[in-house]
Amino acid sequence: MKHKVSSAAQIRSSFIDFFKSKDHEFIPSSPIVPIKDQTLLFANAGMNQFKDIFLGLVSPEYRRAVNSQKCLRVSGKHNDLEEVGKDTYHHTFFEMLGNWSFDDYFKAEAIEWAWELLTKVWGIEPGRLWATVFAGEKADGLPKDEEAAKLWTKVTSISPDRVLAFSRKDNFWEMGDTGPCGPCSEIHIDLGPDMCDKKDVPGHCCAVNAGCSRFIELWNLVFIQYNRTENGKLLSLGAKYVDTGAGLERISAVLQNKRSNYDTDLFMPVIDRISEVTGHKYTSRLGNKTDNAFRVIADHIRTLVFAITDGATPSNEGRGYVIRRILRRASRYARELGMHEPFIYKLVPIVVDVMADAFGEVRERADFVSTVIESEEAGFGRTLDRGIEIFTAAADRAGQAADKTISGEDAFQLYDTYGFPLDLTQLMANERGLKVDTVKFEELMEEQRQRARAAQKNDSMMLTLADTELPITEDMHKYHLDTCDSVITGWIDNEGFKAKGRIPVNTKIGLILDKTCFYAEAGGQVGDCGIIKSDKGQFIVESTTKIANCVLHQGRMAEGAFDVGDKVKAVVSKDRDSIKKNHTATHLLQWALQDVLGKTVAQQGSFVGPDYLRFDFTYPKAPGPEELKEAERKVREKIAEDLPVTWVVIPKEQAQKLGAMALFGEKYGSEVRVVGIGAESENGISEAFSREFCGGTHVDRLGSIGGFKIIKEESISAGIRRITALTGQGLAGYLEQRSDIIDSLSQMLKVPAEAVSNRVEQLLAENKRLSKELKTVGTSSGPDTMAEAQVLLQQCEKIDGAHVIVGQISNTPIEQAREAVDMLKKKAKSAAIALGFADGDKVTLLTGVTDDLLKKGLKAGDVVRIIAPIVDGGGGGRPQMAQAGGKNPSKIQEALAKAAEIIKEKLVRR
Ligand code: ATP
Ligand code: MG
Repeated sequence: MKHKVSSAAQIRSSFIDFFKSKDHEFIPSSPIVPIKDQTLLFANAGMNQFKDIFLGLVSPEYRRAVNSQKCLRVSGKHNDLEEVGKDTYHHTFFEMLGNWSFDDYFKAEAIEWAWELLTKVWGIEPGRLWATVFAGEKADGLPKDEEAAKLWTKVTSISPDRVLAFSRKDNFWEMGDTGPCGPCSEIHIDLGPDMCDKKDVPGHCCAVNAGCSRFIELWNLVFIQYNRTENGKLLSLGAKYVDTGAGLERISAVLQNKRSNYDTDLFMPVIDRISEVTGHKYTSRLGNKTDNAFRVIADHIRTLVFAITDGATPSNEGRGYVIRRILRRASRYARELGMHEPFIYKLVPIVVDVMADAFGEVRERADFVSTVIESEEAGFGRTLDRGIEIFTAAADRAGQAADKTISGEDAFQLYDTYGFPLDLTQLMANERGLKVDTVKFEELMEEQRQRARAAQKNDSMMLTLADTELPITEDMHKYHLDTCDSVITGWIDNEGFKAKGRIPVNTKIGLILDKTCFYAEAGGQVGDCGIIKSDKGQFIVESTTKIANCVLHQGRMAEGAFDVGDKVKAVVSKDRDSIKKNHTATHLLQWALQDVLGKTVAQQGSFVGPDYLRFDFTYPKAPGPEELKEAERKVREKIAEDLPVTWVVIPKEQAQKLGAMALFGEKYGSEVRVVGIGAESENGISEAFSREFCGGTHVDRLGSIGGFKIIKEESISAGIRRITALTGQGLAGYLEQRSDIIDSLSQMLKVPAEAVSNRVEQLLAENKRLSKELKTVGTSSGPDTMAEAQVLLQQCEKIDGAHVIVGQISNTPIEQAREAVDMLKKKAKSAAIALGFADGDKVTLLTGVTDDLLKKGLKAGDVVRIIAPIVDGGGGGRPQMAQAGGKNPSKIQEALAKAAEIIKEKLVRR
C-alpha cells in the first residue's frame, strides 16, 4: 500500500500543518511532569495542559489548537506498563497528536477533518477504518450519542455498518478519577486477519474492541462536556470542547506498512543500537523472550529520556519512584540480553538523534540524563544479580507450593534489601506462571512506614488543619516594609484553629494577623523571625510559614498577654537584610553559572537564609575550579556595577515569553512575580539580564550585597551539584576568621603572612626527607630504639603536664633501652615511663620516673615490682629507674597496661 507520507517526522508535521490550515494555533507540548497539576503524576494525554480551560478557570488565548503531546502512561487511570513489549502498539512513552476546539467547532468538524486527514491526506483506504460512538450509560443518566452516530454517515464516506456503539468503558473518556470528561468517538483500523493474536482462544471472534490486535484504535475524538467531581457526579461544563488524540507511533506503523510500532523509524534506530551493543539480533516476534527484552528496553529508554529531561529523577517516592521502577525493569531486561554492566545509558544519544528535532529539550539535557541513568543503573546493578538469585530460590519454593505464590515476606525482602519494586517481582513471577502475595507485602510495607513515622514523629502543629477555613493574611508588605501595624485574627495550636480568646502562654503556636510584613518560607527563602508587640506584651516569632493564604507567625508569648482582636506591631528581625542579599546573589549565581557552564545548568532547589545561600543545579560533572572562579568573578562584577533590582507581577504566559526562568515542578498561578536584575524600571523588565519567577525578597541595588564568595562545591546526587556561598556580613565574618588563622600561622612559623605557604611547603619537604632517612637508619642497623621511644613520646597521654609514656619496643640491648628511658626523661621533663620488649622467650621491663613525680609518691621500683609477676618474673630498682625480667612474652601488653593504670592512678589522685 502506498501512503502519501511516510517518515514519523513527516507524519507529525503534516498533522500539525493540516490543522494549521484549518485555523488552529500550534501549542508546544507541555512537559511530561505536569507543573501545576497535583492530581496527575505525568502528562497522559494532550488535553492535560488545557484542563483549566475546560473547567472554565482560565480563558483560552486561541479557540483552536493543535500539537503533539509527550505522554506517559505508567500510573493511575491510564497505565499501559504491563502491555509494553507483549503487544506491538502500547508504549509507556508515546506522542499524542491532537486538535482542540475551545467552545468553537464541535462534533461535525472534528469527525469530518479526522476522516479527511486519514483517508485523503494520508491515503489510508477507507475500507480499513471503523468508527465507534457512545452507547449511553444509565448510572450517569447519559443517553446514546445519536448526534455523532448520524454525523459519521453524513460528513464522511464511511459505510453505516461500520459505525458501532459502545458503553462507557470504551467510549466515555476520562483523564483520571476527577476532571473534564465526555463521550467519545474512536477510529479503529482493521490490520487484517493474520494480525490477530487471539487465534488460539476458543470462541474468539475478531472485531472492534474485542481485545485482539487485529483491530487497533488510532484516533479518539472526545467531546468534553462534563466535569467529574470528587463524589463521582458529573457536572455539565456549560460549554463544548473538542479534544482529540491520535498516537503517532500507531499511525506511523500504518503509513509505513509495518506490522508493529517497533518496526517504524521511531524505534528501529534504538533497536539497532541495542543490537550493536549487546550482539543479539532482533527478529520482531511477539512472545519471543529476546525480542521482548529489545522492545521493553527500547520503550523504557524513551520514557527515561523524556521524563528525566522534564525533571523527574529516580527517587523513592512519587514520580521519582515511577521512574526508578521503569529503570529497574529495563535493567532486569538488560540481563536477558547478557548485559551485566550499565548499558542503558548508552542508548541516550540515539534517542536524542531520533527525537530532538521535534523536542529540542532532550538534546539540551542529554548529558545530564545519561549521568542520572548510568549512576542509577550502577547502583541497582550492585544488588540485581544477587536479587535474581534470591528471587529464583523464592520462586522455586513457590513453584512447589500448592498456591503457586511467592510469599509477601520474600517480595518484601527483595524490595527492601535488593531494591526490587513490587511490580518487577510480579513481572518475574508472572513469567514463571506464579503469583505474589501482595496483601502480605503491603502489610509489611505498612509496618515499615509506621516504624519510619514513629521515628520521625515531631510536634508539628499543622497536622489537623486539612479541612479548616483559615483567615487570609494580606502580606504584600513583606516586599517593602520591616514593620507594620496589624490586628490579631486568631492562632493555631495542636488542637487546630482558634478565632477568639486569649493567646496561650508557654506553648508554641502560629499567630495569625490581618496583615503582615513577615515573609513566609517559600521558594527556598527561609521564613522571617522577629517580634510582634504592643503595650500588653510581646510575642517572639521564630519562623514564618504559610498555609494557603494564611501566614503563621510561629513562636511563643514571651511577655504579657494578647487577645484576638488586639492591635499589635509586627517587627521583622534585622536578619532580613542578610536574607535579601543572599537571595539576590542566588539569582546572580544562577545567571553566572549558565553563562559559564551553559544551559545544562537548571535550578533544582535552593536555600536562602541569613548566614549563607545554597544553590542546587543540574550539571553532569564537577565544574572546574577555573569555571567556578569565573562565575564568582562575574557575580562580583555585577555587584560592583550596582545595578538595580526590580519586579513585576504579570500573567504567566507573558513571563514565559520573556524567557523568565522558572523552577521545575514548582506550582505557579496564572499571575506570577518576575524579579529582574539590571533593568532601570519595572516597565523595562525585558531588558533585565536575569529574570526569574520568584516570590522572595531582594535588595534594591546590587551594591548593597557587599561581596560574594563560593565556599564549597559538591555533588549531592547523580548529575546534581550544590554550591554554598556567602555575601555581606556572613562573608565579612568568614574572611575575618580566615585572616586570624593566617596570622597565627605566620606567628608560629615566624614568617610574614605572604610567606606562610612557602614555609609550609619547605617544612613538608623537610619532613618527607627526614622520615625517609629515619626509615633507612632503622633498617640498616636493626631497630632504632631511640626513634621508637620518640614515637611513644609523641603519642603519649598527658596528665597535669606529666607524660605517661608506656609501650612495647623492639628487641634491643639493655643499655640501649636504658638510654632511651634517660632520653625520654630529659625530653619530656616530667614523665613516668614503662617500656617492655621480648627477646625470644625472655621479657624485659623497664620503668623510670622523673624527680618531680617522686613527690607524688610514684616510684619506678614499685611499678616494676607490681607488673613483673604478670610476665612470670620479678625485679626491682631505684625510685628513678627500675628493671625486671620475665618468661611470658605473650603477657607484655597486659603488664604494660597495668603499669599505665598504676601511673595514672597516682597522678590523678593528687
Ligand atoms: P487503547 O484502548 O488502545 O489502549 P486508549 O483508549 O487508551 O487506547 P486514548 O486514551 O483514547 O487511548 O488515547 C488516544 C490515542 O493515543 C489512542 O487512539 C492511541 O492512538 C494512542 N495511545 C493510547 N495509549 C497509547 C499507548 N500506551 N501507546 C501508544 N499509543 C497510545
Ligand atoms: Mg489505553
